Amino acid sequence: MPTDSPIRPDPLPLPARPGEGRTDLVGLSRDALRAALIAAGTPEKQARMRTAQLWQWIYQKGARDFAAMTNLAKPYRALLAEHFTIGRPELVTRQVSADGTRKYLLRVAGGHEVEVVYIPETDRGTLCVSSQVGCTLTCSFCHTGTQKLVRNLTAGEIVGQIMLARDDLGDWLRPGEGMGERPRLISNIVLMGMGEPLYNFDAVRDAMRIAMDGEGIGLSRRRITLSTSGVVPEIARAGREIGCMLAVSLHATTDAVRDKLVPINKRWNIAALLEALRAYPKLSNSERITFEYVMLRGVNDSDEDARRLIRLIDGIPAKINLIPFNEWPGAPYQRSSNRRIRAFADILYKAGYATPIRTPRGEDIMAACGQLKSATERARKSKREIEREAGPQAP
Ligand code: SAH
Ligand code: SF4
Repeated sequence: MPTDSPIRPDPLPLPARPGEGRTDLVGLSRDALRAALIAAGTPEKQARMRTAQLWQWIYQKGARDFAAMTNLAKPYRALLAEHFTIGRPELVTRQVSADGTRKYLLRVAGGHEVEVVYIPETDRGTLCVSSQVGCTLTCSFCHTGTQKLVRNLTAGEIVGQIMLARDDLGDWLRPGEGMGERPRLISNIVLMGMGEPLYNFDAVRDAMRIAMDGEGIGLSRRRITLSTSGVVPEIARAGREIGCMLAVSLHATTDAVRDKLVPINKRWNIAALLEALRAYPKLSNSERITFEYVMLRGVNDSDEDARRLIRLIDGIPAKINLIPFNEWPGAPYQRSSNRRIRAFADILYKAGYATPIRTPRGEDIMAACGQLKSATERARKSKREIEREAGPQAP
């Protein structure tokens, strides 16, 4: 049974409320932080070192209060506290699934809400992070796509999701401990929560650079996966400026079906998408692209689809992630049967593709892929609107 526990009050003193005129340091790029420190009176010669020290306190030790930063002189700590804060998104609720999955509902500036999901596995712990409140795209099988309210998250709000999960999991470096000494609970990050990350490029890039930086959150870029619905012009830029692993929501093998499932296909079709992927600069045998493929009964799950998929992605080092459709109230599709999913996977496997079938996690708390949608976001499309967008394919 899910445990629906309201979050306990934070025992740490909050350094400041937003709007008190101090700058929140979370999410600032190294250059921006350095400039902010100099503007606040840090001698230029020291600024680089202070930036590194602050990053370690903020992103590795989880410090919330400048007073705790014992390797900085007391008057300097006071100067920092005068000008800056170290913020967090506000935690609204935290749910724990029977399978250990945790779903956090966070409130960000303006009262908007986003969801973050932590998925523990035997060999890793993955945090599924959101990039936007809602999503401007309207994929017909995705709950987030029915949410009307949308705003981009800031870099601080994106990194803040990781930090808040680390607070909850007690996943910060312990006193005296070095980076890499102990496996961390959050070992992987996937940008697969709410939103289309490539439509919030700059904030996602800045946040992921902090996540990948050895003095920041400190995860290897191979442990960070950005999932896109196929914003073709931004794919090469993501390779150049972020350089993390890429997952692509393909979900169909013909343009006619993909137009219905992932409407951005009308703008950039399958051929254009695959061309961008072939050129993804980081592409190599060791850096496969993950193709995500949601299994929808009678829509995209035939043997013929599987064979067409193999032909389409021929030549691209790839892994295919089959996602059994996660249902949500009013959804116009059904999940393919297990037998169908296995038969589909088998065809791909015989063609040489690693084809993990994603086990739905946290179903009892609606934490599974594509089910995220802020609970208080009541303005939603009607069932009829969803069905109209889904078109005649829907069962
Ligand atoms: N906007 C990005 C990332 C977020 S969605 C994208 O679309 O890629 C993460 C993955 O979950 C995507 O592959 C998405 O298509 C898939 N998804 C969305 N709704 C789903 C559902 N109801 N069941 C299963 N997968 C779903
Ligand atoms: Fe947006 Fe991704 Fe959902 Fe499509 S699948 S509506 S792009 S979050």
